[in-house]
Amino acid sequence: MTDGADFPTEGTSAERKMRFLYALRSRGVTDTRVLLAMERIDRGHFVRGLFAERAYEDMPLPIPCGQTISQPSVVGLMTQALAVQPRDKVLEVGTGSGYQAAILSQLARRVYTVDRHRRLVREASETFNALDLNNITAITTDGSFGLPDQAPFDRIIVTAAAEDPPGPLLAQLKLGGIMVLPVGQSDTVQSLIKVTRLETGFDYEELRPVRFVPLVEGIAAD
Ligand code: SAH
Repeated sequence: MTDGADFPTEGTSAERKMRFLYALRSRGVTDTRVLLAMERIDRGHFVRGLFAERAYEDMPLPIPCGQTISQPSVVGLMTQALAVQPRDKVLEVGTGSGYQAAILSQLARRVYTVDRHRRLVREASETFNALDLNNITAITTDGSFGLPDQAPFDRIIVTAAAEDPPGPLLAQLKLGGIMVLPVGQSDTVQSLIKVTRLETGFDYEELRPVRFVPLVEGIAAD
């Protein structure tokens, strides 16, 4: 389901957009608000250089610092599972290209996104400014500790895989809040899980197998 072979890149931009949205729907992204956000935010702004022409294919693609921009259908399914409400304050761990944060900015009141690579945070911030996405704040930090200054959050999304949900992130989730994240060994099969904070504790739901780059400790040199 990840080869993108049914996502030809030829044609006008309107045709390309229609094919992009059709493929998202056929892969289970059915929430109207999520589809609208993904229609508004052009993935082409988040993929630079050699791979730019493949921005509309349903594939993960390389971005600087040896990282990847996630596959659009996975971005859509994670966003859908997060069930973001218009008043929500959302934390994303793993800014990468900024694409996921940009989609969240269409659905939430405020988005904080953090990455351990300064360069990715800088470039994503430039893209957010160029697109006038004023409700996103991008910060360089080790997201496995969350963002204590801005906690608690209504929603948390992690776009790098940890072995287990990091304790500080669970602690920074509001009551009734939802966190979506991949868990598992970094180079083997991971599961996308949805954690809901209830008065009685945490509810865990396994959504689907996925493959993400690992959550790495500490701030990177670049
Ligand atoms: N959401 C991104 C894709 C993220 S790729 C997008 O839409 O393009 C995963 C990102 O997680 C990488 O950029 C990596 O640098 C970052 N990352 C890994 N470990 C981290 C940590 N401990 N804290 C913050 N970011 C981390």
